[in-house]
Amino acid sequence: MARDLGAVCRICRTEGQKLFFKGDRCFTTKCSFEKRSYWPGIHGKIKSARLKMSDYGTQLRQKQKLRKTYGILERQFAGYFERALKIKGVTGIKLLQLLESRLDNMVMRMGFVHSRKAARQLVLHGHVLVNGKKVSVPSYQTKPGMEISIRENSTLIGRCKESFQVASSRGIPDWVKVDGDKARGTYLALPTREQLPADIQENMVVEFYSR
Ligand code: SF4
Repeated sequence: MARDLGAVCRICRTEGQKLFFKGDRCFTTKCSFEKRSYWPGIHGKIKSARLKMSDYGTQLRQKQKLRKTYGILERQFAGYFERALKIKGVTGIKLLQLLESRLDNMVMRMGFVHSRKAARQLVLHGHVLVNGKKVSVPSYQTKPGMEISIRENSTLIGRCKESFQVASSRGIPDWVKVDGDKARGTYLALPTREQLPADIQENMVVEFYSR
């Protein structure tokens, strides 16, 4: 399965904000963005100071930021947009809801791991159950009402429970309900726009694809 293998801290620096690809490390002083919050590369500082973005450039950056946040390749992301267009409602919000409903994202939102990359690994290696059945496809679309859990005899269940303790102290979204002791959670409802990160400019992504 194809995926983006670039240096992820460079993505945060290019997009000008922390995108939390590295789990716990992102919350420490070792975070590259904390140390160098300007564009990567030898002329990064000058580029950051002088760069004036066109409308197209802004839309492109927002699209790239959203795509890379969820670790999705170009064609698959365009596919998500096509699907969002077909769903009744505000396209940008529908797009975000589709992305948030990916199984790897749900595993991370429930706090069983600290990054989408780790969640992806957990799913791919067969540690995750949906409604009691093993699902090893990170892009699997979960739906409200579904139960997501870590396999009881999984060698990683202890680590997932520990991760949950840390994640719950940082805050678990209120559109999921998690029982940390059992490493099990329920997808309660589609997240509303207010429950999703405010720094995402999904309208720019819609404008990018509507050109
Ligand atoms: Fe981004 Fe900092 Fe995490 Fe690297 S450590 S991925 S720069 S938030």
